[in-house]
Amino acid sequence: MWVHFNCMGWADDAALNLGARQNGNGLRTLTTRESHSESREECQIETGGYVMNKVVVLGTGPSGLTAAIYLARANMEPLVIEGAQPGGQLTTTTEVENFPGFPEGVMGPELMDKMRQQAERFGAKFQRGWVSKVDLSSRPFKLFIGDNEVVETETLIISTGASAKLLGIPGEKESIGLGVSTCATCDGFFFRGKKLLVVGGGDSAMEEANFLTRFASEVKVVHRRDQLRASKIMQERARANEKITWALDYTPLEVIREGQGVKGLKVRNNQTGEEEVIEADGVFVAIGHKPNTDFLEGQVETDELGYIRVVPGSTRTSVPGVFACGDVQDKTYRQAITAAGSGCMAALDCERYLEGSATHEWGFK
Ligand code: NAP
Repeated sequence: MWVHFNCMGWADDAALNLGARQNGNGLRTLTTRESHSESREECQIETGGYVMNKVVVLGTGPSGLTAAIYLARANMEPLVIEGAQPGGQLTTTTEVENFPGFPEGVMGPELMDKMRQQAERFGAKFQRGWVSKVDLSSRPFKLFIGDNEVVETETLIISTGASAKLLGIPGEKESIGLGVSTCATCDGFFFRGKKLLVVGGGDSAMEEANFLTRFASEVKVVHRRDQLRASKIMQERARANEKITWALDYTPLEVIREGQGVKGLKVRNNQTGEEEVIEADGVFVAIGHKPNTDFLEGQVETDELGYIRVVPGSTRTSVPGVFACGDVQDKTYRQAITAAGSGCMAALDCERYLEGSATHEWGFK
């Protein structure tokens, strides 16, 4: 893994010399040399290999970048740490048509690049790196990056998002954005009049299947057992929908591709053991999400699914000075615009906290 640093003198030259690079989506991302000054003087406070920050934002999806824009405009000099997928989930989608302000739509990667530029314009600093663990037991908080780097910060905004789970079958990963999707709200519109499959048997699968019938000619739910996991009401709603058909007790084996799209899903009938291909123009994988909270190792309170608990109506977590926004604390809405909104909330909550002007008691009621 390579890293580049915004202004850290000890970043190795090889990393700094990478210059402009193409990210996974073909978009040009500026590295340190181009986007920021390299001088140590312009860094945050640096002490013996440690960097102290007022606020660090972890994650660069819509929530993290919105928080960074607000914090930077408020002169809070945020350090934003970008993980393995800069820009977050939107960089894996194509056109975004429901983000306000873009009447003609905007490509997901482009939207994220613009948000990043906006944050940089006001002075947000970016650092590439993988935070493997944190120490939130005392202030300043410590973030451990890679093997030997520690970043210290007075406050922390966690916006590490959630990752859609994938089936892990052949043909799936390479077809994302090319006939395989994990978000009906994002991509359903592109399948008007088409035949679609939804894989999964939980509430998400029922919801996605129902939603997709607005566009598709037929939606077939493929589930690996003969019993659905979804709640009764969601099942009933799906079963009442005439456009939805069922392939229960079928194990997905492979996404069959054709040209730049999808031709169908190879499955095994668990009753007979026979394999067959269910033809379809698109496959929506709806087998749940996993919030990216493992690195917290239980230091911030989460719910039973691992989503960070926040005080309702705020972004305050169980740890004073730690805030959470975006999908890492939201299993209900999961939209770019709601993530961005909660990023704004986190920035304002953090600012008030650092100013000592917060009007609330910390903690859950
Ligand atoms: P979920 O309840 O965990 O269901 C995941 C489904 O995917 C299960 O049916 C599971 O099969 C299947 N699955 C998992 N891994 C698989 C694999 N490798 N191959 C094939 N199938 C696989 O996840 P969810 O539906 O996303 O729901 C998560 C939570 O959010 C739930 O509490 C749910 O109630 C809530 N939610 C609520 C709403 C709503 O109320 N509107 C909407 C969405 C989600 P098995 O059943 O065999 O394990």
